[in-house]
Amino acid sequence: MPELRQNFMTKEWVVIATERAKRPDEVAVHRPAKPALSYSPNCPFCPGNESQTPPEILRLPEGSGWKARVVPNKFAALSPQANPDRTIRRSLRSMAGFGIHDVIVETPNHSLAMASMPDSHVSDILRIYKTRYDELSLDPRIAHLTIFKNYGADAGTSLEHSHSQLVATPVISYQVRQRFQEALRHYDDYGCCIFCQLIDEELQEQKRIVLASEHFVALEIFASPSPFFTHIYPRRHMASFGDISAKEIADLGRVLRTLLAKLYYGLENPDYNFTIRTAPAELVGVRYFHWYMSVIPRLTRVAGFELGSGMFINTVIPEDAAEFLRNVRVETTVGVG
Ligand SMILES: [Zn+2]
Ligand SMILES: [Zn+2]
Repeated sequence: MPELRQNFMTKEWVVIATERAKRPDEVAVHRPAKPALSYSPNCPFCPGNESQTPPEILRLPEGSGWKARVVPNKFAALSPQANPDRTIRRSLRSMAGFGIHDVIVETPNHSLAMASMPDSHVSDILRIYKTRYDELSLDPRIAHLTIFKNYGADAGTSLEHSHSQLVATPVISYQVRQRFQEALRHYDDYGCCIFCQLIDEELQEQKRIVLASEHFVALEIFASPSPFFTHIYPRRHMASFGDISAKEIADLGRVLRTLLAKLYYGLENPDYNFTIRTAPAELVGVRYFHWYMSVIPRLTRVAGFELGSGMFINTVIPEDAAEFLRNVRVETTVGVG
């Protein structure tokens, strides 16, 4: 029988369509392989083309060159020059589009995907996120930070060269605010962090666990709105990504790289987004929120039912997706980089 499942935090309902359920491998993308070029002369992120990006904010050096660099987004959604003053006239509310929009160029190699990087290189990238996160959290104009990656055209990027982004905004969206309120309500009702409780319950049940390391747990979410919607939770309670320790960053690099490699090999290089969901600066240290990463392969499209009802139909059962990913063998580490 089909089943309706509700997300504990967003309260969204999803239809797990068992009647039209697909085997997990049926959603693989079967994309023809492209030639792997380590350099592309017209790419603004390739070494030698540094002048095509705005002036660098941060660089991770390697030899005479670099291993990763952070630059402002040339086509930034928001501007650091604006002043975030609000204008409120009855029903019309607006403010100047203040914000900071970084691009993290993750490697000098034009076609190296994060799934194929050494674990330690992924940890280096996470460390850059933390450096920028810590710096920008101190800016009183900034209310919220979003770190994300778009991989492939279906995930919203046309640039092939591996990169991720950080956007600092002067406001917190209602969607994000609501999640904090739900988490706070749970804390008030039950006296514990809903995420810590979820991690315990999922580890007991095991059915949706993809991989578990010393410090992190990756799992298919119970009310998964789309196939292979995966969360990575730190085992230790932390409200903010900025609280991550050096040991945890090393471990997360390994876990994230392994998960991306499982998607890469298991589903034949799907497009995906990942994002870090973390408490804003004003909520650092709260007991009721727990940061995490969402990794979302873009295997399906939103259609009329989703647009009209706000409910999603998922044709891959999350427990089957977890089992499938557990069985995709990837080497535990690539090189030592
Ligand atoms: Zn490039
Ligand atoms: Zn927690």
